[in-house]
Amino acid sequence: MIYFIGAGPGAADLITVKGKELLEKADLVIYAGSLVNPELLKYCKPECTIMNSATMTLEEVIAAMVPAAQAGQLVVRLHTGDPSIYGAHREQIDLLRSYNLDYEVVPGVSSFCAAAACLKAEYTLPNVSQSVIITRMEGRTPVPSHQKIADYAAHKATMVIFLSSGMLEKLQTELVRGGYRNDTPAAIVYKASWPDEMVIRCTVGTLAENAAKYGINKTALITVGGFLGNAYDRSELYNPTFAHGFREADPTKLDVKPEVK
Ligand code: SAH
Repeated sequence: MIYFIGAGPGAADLITVKGKELLEKADLVIYAGSLVNPELLKYCKPECTIMNSATMTLEEVIAAMVPAAQAGQLVVRLHTGDPSIYGAHREQIDLLRSYNLDYEVVPGVSSFCAAAACLKAEYTLPNVSQSVIITRMEGRTPVPSHQKIADYAAHKATMVIFLSSGMLEKLQTELVRGGYRNDTPAAIVYKASWPDEMVIRCTVGTLAENAAKYGINKTALITVGGFLGNAYDRSELYNPTFAHGFREADPTKLDVKPEVK
């Protein structure tokens, strides 16, 4: 059996219980060494074979997994964050299918969730943004047309931008070209949940200058939008004047908007 497991954003205690239990039983672990915290490997049994995929190709990863799984070993492919976000696990799954091997995906805490936790922020504030756009700048990996930063910036929704902290001058320009103002709140979250985590609150217009000041050019997420500001509406769900399946409305209660200073 082969398990694709989300390792979480970094901290060794942010893997799921299921992920940790599988790591404890694994005979072969192939981990994405560029971003997975090696501390997680302490959960592996001493006789477990551990490989770092940072220097391996897709073909080499498959060539390591297949004989182990065919011999009945428990194989773990450990991806950073959640495998479904820029994890490149689909291509592995498709190759494994041709060998008729069983596999399962165990989700993980994506770094975009860890970043919100660092910021103590809610991406989906009522009347600010009800959508989260997860995207990236085009680098050596192309981005399909109509999915460029400027296309998304036009929506003024919350944006979480992966894999782009080395291109912040360009990112700023694209965000503004799409419709965000230079003074729109933004934040750089570096290594969320790692011991050297850094959170820099700034604006769209000062992203590049702040990254340069703090020496950040990788392992960071850029978040952009009004969710980083102070204006929002309170939720209907917890509003005393709002009835739903689990609660009656109390029309005598004032609909008080929370004030955030
Ligand atoms: N599957 C991963 C993302 C892999 S792509 C996930 O769900 O988080 C790698 C990119 O993710 C990095 O370039 C960076 O933009 C982001 N990233 C991964 N871990 C991070 C962390 N702990 N803090 C901030 N950004 C992180």
